[in-house]
Parts: sequence; structure tokens; C-alpha cells
Amino acid sequence: MIQRAREFLQSHFGYDSFRSGQEQAIGQVLSGENTICVMPTGGGKSICYQIPALVLQGTTIVVSPLISLMKDQVDTLLEAGIQAAYINSSLSNAAFRETMNAARNGEYKLLYIAPERLESQSFVEQLKQLQIPLIAVDEAHCISQWGHDFRPSYRHIQRMADMLPGNPVVLALTATATPNVREDICRLLSIDEENTVITGFERKNLSFSVIQGQDRNSFLKEYLKKNEKEAGIIYAATRKTVDQLYERLKKNGVDVARYHAGMSDVERNAEQERFLTDEVAVMVATNAFGMGIDKSNIRYVIHYQLPKNMESYYQEAGRAGRDGLDSECVVLYSSQDVQTQRFLIDQTLERDRIPQELDKLQLMVDYCHTEKCLQQFIVAYFGEEYPKPCGRCGNCTDSRESVDTTKEAQMVLSCVIRMGQRFGKAITAQVLTGSKNKKIQDFGFEQLSTYGILKHQSAKDVTNFIEFLISQELIGVEQKQYPTIFVTENGKNVLLGKETVKRKEAVRTKKIAREDPLFEELRSLRKELADEAGVPPFVIFSDKTLQDMCAKMPQTEEEFLLVSGVGQSKLEKYGDSFLRAIQTFSADHPERERDVKATYVTKALKKKTVNGSHLETFDLHQSGLTADEIAVDRELTVSTVENHLIQCMNEGLAVDLNLIVPEQYREPLEKAIEEAGAERLKPIKELVPDDVTYGMIKVFLEMRKVGYGR
Ligand code: ADP
Ligand code: ZN
Repeated sequence: MIQRAREFLQSHFGYDSFRSGQEQAIGQVLSGENTICVMPTGGGKSICYQIPALVLQGTTIVVSPLISLMKDQVDTLLEAGIQAAYINSSLSNAAFRETMNAARNGEYKLLYIAPERLESQSFVEQLKQLQIPLIAVDEAHCISQWGHDFRPSYRHIQRMADMLPGNPVVLALTATATPNVREDICRLLSIDEENTVITGFERKNLSFSVIQGQDRNSFLKEYLKKNEKEAGIIYAATRKTVDQLYERLKKNGVDVARYHAGMSDVERNAEQERFLTDEVAVMVATNAFGMGIDKSNIRYVIHYQLPKNMESYYQEAGRAGRDGLDSECVVLYSSQDVQTQRFLIDQTLERDRIPQELDKLQLMVDYCHTEKCLQQFIVAYFGEEYPKPCGRCGNCTDSRESVDTTKEAQMVLSCVIRMGQRFGKAITAQVLTGSKNKKIQDFGFEQLSTYGILKHQSAKDVTNFIEFLISQELIGVEQKQYPTIFVTENGKNVLLGKETVKRKEAVRTKKIAREDPLFEELRSLRKELADEAGVPPFVIFSDKTLQDMCAKMPQTEEEFLLVSGVGQSKLEKYGDSFLRAIQTFSADHPERERDVKATYVTKALKKKTVNGSHLETFDLHQSGLTADEIAVDRELTVSTVENHLIQCMNEGLAVDLNLIVPEQYREPLEKAIEEAGAERLKPIKELVPDDVTYGMIKVFLEMRKVGYGR
């Protein structure tokens, strides 16, 4: 049976191998075991029930929490050529009856239902008339009161399973499950804990970072500008902040949607739709947004304010990069937000749950302050043993220098004290920069010795610096009607010269994705086709699939099927359009197509002749061709040719350096190697003229090693 599962993976989904955990989960389900599958978001949980649904006789029931997203889930399956439908309160009576009729006739492989449906006894009676081999419970943590999204109607699932004939298998799926939530799921759905399939919590394509002591609005503005083509979510803690942010971004000319519980259903759905269909790139929302969102091409998730705990944070941040492409998760931390979250906890929870939630909040604050690997911090929180540093997060990659700012800090701290510790940071910054503001005159602040002491800086820079001092807990914030600032005990130590203050330069925003004109072509073609078909673009192809098309540049249907994410059904529906777009692009960019051919399409061919390929290169080399010329002649990339020649050297063949590394570069190369060592290419590359390629450096190093040609 697992062999059939593999065939379906290729024919319907266009993937050639299972990801970690998928095969085990599918195997267990197919052998009739109730199973719980814990995988991070984007890990590929859907396939764990969709493929068994194809293999097994009858209709698989999928319990899925969000009505508004069922249509997307079903559309995705239909696009892949799999018969599916959904049942929820959005259907008219007639549509409901029609769907149930078709279901009774066995027309669907999968039927999605909202958990609330199960509260109706008569509905469950109707389900009894279907042949149901499998019940998949998506977002299974909703069944547990310990989880962060408890849904009482999930408690009806087990009753349904017991009532259905044929003893259907139950598969529970979730991304966030601390051990006690997992136990709950197993107990409530009669799953043997031994049948747990759990893959690591690490998300290898996400890079986490925390920005603090920096003005978040300017950070955000710059970030959105640099990544304007990419989709992202910005989470804020309250409706009010969402509205403010939304207005501010709109004013800045950003195309933005918003979502929070204070809006009407109609409005919210419309906004969600605009985001899912790539009409707007940016969604500003409270945590009410996102559960069950399958949009796979979200490139960043920014938390404008501190999230309430690690579970929520990882779930929300995890919505980035479901397609497996590099994506970013940023928390913009400011210590005042801790107050906001405390307030929210106080307002919304029963007394006895408050201490536990405050502890969780504290861990979230610890996350923002840790200097260790952030991804490691997260997976350790979820109980994973021996996590390793990720090498991608803000802390792992931090190479900023710190500067001694003790003097400046003392000026600010002393100004705060002189002003009586009763004012906010904005006016403090104005005093320090010597503003002529009337309020300052009214209070007589221009008499202070610290008035204008930082006048060579802008008020904004000084506000930023104060923000930094707050993040270092040298200045405290008191929440009154307007927040006011005061000097903390640590701050006093700085004033007394007992402690120094070091500040790192601001974190720069960066571009997440590389620019590629072909990708943009394909992206807009996808949008066109999606609008025509009335589905979100990611339902047609993921960004990852588009990227794979860019890398492989398929020219024929056969080659198109080699693209990851292209199965038979998608080939039939969209093959023509995409092939045409790629062919047009190739005609305008012949060099690129040639390069691609060399690396990908002829790869299979090259594999066959691999033993002799470098010798063919060597023949041409001996006849006096340069590496570039050989590449053209053999339809290979230059770097392949260079690798061939290195292989030749290792085999003792006499390679002529003159043809590969021109004379004038040798001295600079020698010097660079002396200075940077011979271990890594990049430092050498930085020291030599731009025209020297990595390939040249590689060949040159090899030459020195084998010791001739100099
Ligand atoms: P989850 O539900 O765990 O968040 P999904 O089921 O939405 O994740 O899968 C995330 C993405 O990974 C989807 O685009 C899916 O098509 C893709 N995917 C799943 N399994 C594989 C696989 N075996 N090979 C390649 N891509 C896969
Ligand atoms: Zn890290």
C-alpha cells in the first residue's frame, strides 16, 4: 500500500519523495492505527490524510476549524485532480442536500466538515450512510482546554467516531502541542500514545529575530519598502493598534488589509480574501487572524508587539514560509508591551489561570532578551532535546560592533532626573535637543543644564536612544494616562560611573527574496490564471514551484513534470500557459536558458558520461580553448568546466593555468591568499579585482596545492 501512496504523491501532488514523518504517519493510518501527527506548520501534514484518502475505499472526513478557509482547502484538492467537497453553515439548504447526495453516491474522496456540525445528531445520522474509512482531525489541539484555541465542539468528534459503522481510523494533526496537550488529544480521541509521529519543531527555512531599542515604525517602513512584492502579516496586540497601524501604513502608500474581531464578518472575510488572492501584500491583524490559513507564500511575519506566549508566537510566526522558501519572523520588542499583555491577561482570563499565563508571558520576554540562538530557544521550549544553534537567526548571525555610549546615556539619565521623572520620552528628547517648543518654555526646561546638550542630534534619534535605554532597563516606564519615564537602580549606577553602556548599531532591514524577472513573469501569470479560476494564486502553484520552474526552465511537457509540485492534473491545466511564458522568456534571455540546460536538464545525461566528461573538457583545453569557450562549446556552465579541470589536475594531467587564470590576476591572488588564508573563498574574493571569479580562485588554489604552473 505504501507503494501506491508513493505513486499518488507523484501523480497528484508532483513530489518525488516523502518528507520526514509523512511516510510513518501514512503507514500507520493505512494499517488501521489511530495516530497523532505533530509536525511544525509547513511540515506537510495535509498529505498525511490526503494520500490515505486516495488509497482507501470510501470518503475520508476532515474536521477543520475554519469555515472561511474550507473552500481554499477543497479548491487545492480539485486543482490536483482529487474529488472533494465541504459542508458548513455557508451552504444553502439545497447545496447541502446536493453535497450529501453526491457523498452518499461515493463521489468524494474527501469531505471537509466544520466541528459545529457534529453537535447535530441528525447530521451524524446522515454520515452513517457513507463509507468512512478515516477521520482526520485538523488543528487537533483545539480539543484540549490546555491549548490556546479550545473549541468545545471538538469534543463531539469521538462520539461521531464511535457511532460510525466500520470503525474508522482517527488521525489527529497539530503543529503546537506541549506534552500535556498531546496527552489530552490522545485520551479524548482514543489514540495510543505509542502511535505518535512527531518530527522536529525546527523550521529550517525560517530566520527569527528580535529588534529592540530601535524605532519600530521606521524599521517597519523600511522593511515593507524593501520587500514590497512579498506577502507578510503584521500582528499587533489590540484592535486599536491594528487600526492605527493600518491607517498609518495606508498613508505611507502601502497596500494593506486588516483583520480583527471588532469588524463585521463580511468586512473581515473581504479583507482576508484580498490578502489570500495577492490583491494586497500586507495584512495587519490581531491574533484573531490566521488559524487554518493555508496561504503558502507568506514571506514574513512581524510581531509589532510582544506576543502573549511562546505557543501563540510559534503558531503565528510559523505561518511564514509554508512553501519551504526562506522567510523571516521578527518581533519588534519594547518593554512597555509587557504591560499591555499583562493587562490583556488580567482582563480576559479567569483568576486561577492568571499566574500560569504570567509565567508564560515571562518566558516570551526572556526570548526577547536571550543572546543565544532563538530557534534553539523555541524548540527547547517545546521540549525537544539537544537542539543545536540554527545559524540563521538574528542572534546566530549578529556581527554588529558595539560602541561605548556611557557618556551619552549619562546625559539622558541626568536630564530625566532634572525634569523630575514625571514626563514622557518625546518631551525629554525635545529638551535634550534644545527644542523651542512652547511647552518646554512653560515648564522652564530651557534653564536646565541638560537643555540642548544633544542638539547636534535629531529628536527622533534621541527618542530612539531613550528606547534603547528602556530596553536595557536603565530607564523604566510608568504607565499612567501618559507613560512617563524614570531612572532605574541600574540607571543610577550608570550615572555614578559604576557601569558602562554599550550599544550595538541598529539592525538593518534586508530583502528576503532575490529578484528574478522570470519569477515576476510567472507570478503575474499565476495571478491571472487564479483570478480566472476563482481561487487564490497559491492554490495553483506555490512560490516554491515557481522558483523551481525558474531554476529548471522546462521547455517541454516532460520537463515540466520534473518541476517539484507539478502533477498530472496541473500539467494538463496549466502546462501550456507556463511553458509558453517560459519559452518567451528564454527567447529573450538565451544565455540564461543555456546555463540552466547545462546544470539541470543535461544533468541526467551527464551522469551517464560522468566518468569521461572531464576528459572531454580536457581535450578542448589542450586544443587551447579558455574555460569560457569550453563552456559554450559543451553547453556546460563555466563552473562545471572549472571543476572538470580541477579534477584533471588531481589526476595528474597537465593543466595550463594561462588559459584559466590570466597572468595579471596571479599576483593579487597570491597577496589575497597570504592575507586571508586559503581555507575559504569568500575572503579571498573580497580582496581581488571583481573580474576574478570564484572558479578562477578555486583553480588557482588547486594549482598551488599541486605545486606547479606558477
Ligand atoms: P502543514 O499543514 O503541516 O502546515 P502543508 O500540508 O500545508 O503543511 O504543507 C506545506 C507545503 O509543503 C505545501 O505546499 C505542500 O504541498 C508541501 N509538501 C508537502 N509534502 C511535501 C513533499 N513530500 N515534498 C515536497 N513538498 C511537500
Ligand atoms: Zn540561531
